[in-house]
Amino acid sequence: MVRRVAVVGAGVSGLAATKCCLEEGLEPTCFERSEDVGGLWYYTNKAEEGRASIYRTVFTNSCKEMSCYPDFPFPDDHPNYMHNTRLQHYLCKYAEHFGLLQHIQFKTLVTKVRKHPNFSVTGQWEVVTQRDGKEETAVFDAVMVCSGHQVYPNLPLADFPGIEKFKGCYFHSREYKEPEKFRGKKVLVIGLGNSGSDIAVELSTMASQVYLSTRSGSWVMSRVWDKGYPWDMLVITRFQSWLGTVLPRALSNWLYVRSMNRSFKHENFGLMPLERASRKEPVFNDDLPGRIACGVVVIKPNVKEFRETSILFQDGTVQDGVDLVVFATGYICSYPFMEDHSIIKSRDDEVTLYKGIIPPQLEKPTIAVIGLVQTLGAIMPTVDLQCRWAIKVFQGRKNLKQPLLSSPPPPCQRHGNSSMLQTDYVTYMDELASAIGVKPSMTKLLLTDPRLALEVFFGPCTPYQFRLVGPGKWSGARKAILTQWDRTLR
Ligand code: FAD
Repeated sequence: MVRRVAVVGAGVSGLAATKCCLEEGLEPTCFERSEDVGGLWYYTNKAEEGRASIYRTVFTNSCKEMSCYPDFPFPDDHPNYMHNTRLQHYLCKYAEHFGLLQHIQFKTLVTKVRKHPNFSVTGQWEVVTQRDGKEETAVFDAVMVCSGHQVYPNLPLADFPGIEKFKGCYFHSREYKEPEKFRGKKVLVIGLGNSGSDIAVELSTMASQVYLSTRSGSWVMSRVWDKGYPWDMLVITRFQSWLGTVLPRALSNWLYVRSMNRSFKHENFGLMPLERASRKEPVFNDDLPGRIACGVVVIKPNVKEFRETSILFQDGTVQDGVDLVVFATGYICSYPFMEDHSIIKSRDDEVTLYKGIIPPQLEKPTIAVIGLVQTLGAIMPTVDLQCRWAIKVFQGRKNLKQPLLSSPPPPCQRHGNSSMLQTDYVTYMDELASAIGVKPSMTKLLLTDPRLALEVFFGPCTPYQFRLVGPGKWSGARKAILTQWDRTLR
């Protein structure tokens, strides 16, 4: 019987885990190495060891109605996309509102998580922590790993011949905080992800020239989509997800490419993804096309070779006098506190998890990795549902209508490098929701509450939908869905 749960980390995932444990009558203890909640959103002027680090101007790229916890909407007067300080404030309010703070031990580093000697019978774990140089070991019935996945930089220097000769300065995007000190410099940013494009655009306001190198291109989307509405309120809907399953693949790909090219033709900007119909996470940047059009950001292919003061690119062009290189090359998954690394990561550095959450090979499914799966949807609703699902698995099958762990479980894999597993948000959420009896039934809704049914199906798939029915139902969910556009316009 699971009662005591250790939660590693108090970021977006750890807060959801602690709250969901309390909701189910469990006893969570959340260990957080820093002195505040928020994880990645808790901004500091310097990158801290073992904690995600963001730049000063990070804004959310998922809008407020799509990225709240499902039973805790953002205040009406908040803008649709938020600066990191606002999101951090929201997370603090969430922790306060649900009484989570008393369950969090701050400045406490989890140094080891290992199977208890009786694991095969009890499924218990020993968790070793360090606080003020004092070490403690405690036994827990389950562990929720919420330590973040944008922490350990992927810096593939071996793929860049000559980097050791390069006389300029280089660092990983994790170290980047603000542009001021790079005034007048010539900069190369490697990697066209969200961080790479944000940093390139920001530096282009100070630097003398910015080059942005991309191996495979990317779709670039604007936060402000058709008629000025938030992109995710229009794109992430049950209707769109359903269309994706019924339309022939070729037609669906054609429509996708057409919608991505609607505001500018990627090919003309050197951004066209190598795989045209690739559903890889797009980059969200409202300013990049404009900066390219003004010539202050120049798109380059992959780097072939670094020389002392110049850089040779794959297309044969050479750029002289580059002062600074920012490697926006993503992150690797790492769980340094796991005594047996193979529980989460296989020998070839792959993470294999059932539903992207539970290691499939364990005798007892009492450890969950939260927040790893990446979908086009926001993380808050995703981790809320992952935690509720994982807790049901911890508790055994008795509460469930259907078995959760089939044998052998269909694995969900993610490679150890920066490429993330992409799944369709609505499909993934519905799978978890169905398994724990919280997926809204469209037929039932249509018969009992047609107005709500239409908004649920054709409107944005907002987080409230997953707290509308079943265990963990939130009484404010119906009203929140019917008023979501009002808050967006506010
Ligand atoms: P983190 O926020 O990394 O939190 C992990 C916590 O665990 C930290 O507080 C850390 O101190 C603690 N910890 C780690 N190891 C230990 C240990 N051994 N012992 C104790 N404590 C430990 N997602 C969205 O949905 N919308 C967005 O707009 C969005 N924007 C993003 C912008 C950027 C620049 C980046 C990098 C990511 C963005 N994301 C966004 C995705 C992001 O991953 C999530 O928003 C989210 O912050 C991840 O939360 P987390 O709790 O899983 O991890």
